[in-house]
Amino acid sequence: MKTDYHIHTEFSCDSEAKMEEYVKQALERDIRMFCFTDHVDLNPDDYGCNYYSPEKYFEAFRKVKERYGEQLTLCSGIEFGEPHLYADKLRELSNYPYDFIIGSIHWIGNMFPCQKVREQYSAKEFYTLYWKEVLSTVKQGGFDALGHIDFPKRYYGEIYYEEAEIKEIFKRLLDKDMIIEINTSSLRKGHSEAMPGKDLLQVYADCGGRYVTVGSDAHVEQDVGADYEAAKQLAETFGLQQVVYQERKRIVL
Ligand SMILES: [Zn+2]
Ligand SMILES: [Zn+2]
Repeated sequence: MKTDYHIHTEFSCDSEAKMEEYVKQALERDIRMFCFTDHVDLNPDDYGCNYYSPEKYFEAFRKVKERYGEQLTLCSGIEFGEPHLYADKLRELSNYPYDFIIGSIHWIGNMFPCQKVREQYSAKEFYTLYWKEVLSTVKQGGFDALGHIDFPKRYYGEIYYEEAEIKEIFKRLLDKDMIIEINTSSLRKGHSEAMPGKDLLQVYADCGGRYVTVGSDAHVEQDVGADYEAAKQLAETFGLQQVVYQERKRIVL
């Protein structure tokens, strides 16, 4: 079944898309299940810091679910930035009836991999700092899937890692019964690979990873379900099963 488990709407600071418009697009594209995962960013340097309101989100979500709930399965979620740094807020939000929580690292201290930072830090230097944050966040846990595991790739266009480091991250992640997503947004930005690509998926499978969610990371409704087939094929290549979450419980498709 075609799904999309990473979507941003007007409840994220960097999207103006309406939930209802996503639904209309999804119905046209034969997507019968998806999840709105708006940003929760608390880094003071992020321009979306404290932008998210669960009340406003759920008010809109309930309306759209009421209207279209019989035609497709609509799920609620968040993409929570740097979960290990804002554990109290994550716990607080976990009391809301979300189906799915993505944990993502976008920031390392006050650094985002923007051009200025890329001029100061080589890919290797940046990734070295990045993987430390990822490890801290999977150790902490509290979410279902780690978002775009090789996030700096979207900006640096390349990836750097030590295999032992990645294995430790996957081990900790799987110990907590969490998984990774295959995020296809990099393909829309001209990169040849999804996030992650083949090399990391191989390591994930070697470490015992069995499941992935698939997400477009759409910020406009036209991108819903983008490159779903590519992600599905990629998962199958490594024997990984596509899953969805409802009420924070994993369902194998
Ligand atoms: Zn993200
Ligand atoms: Zn996202």
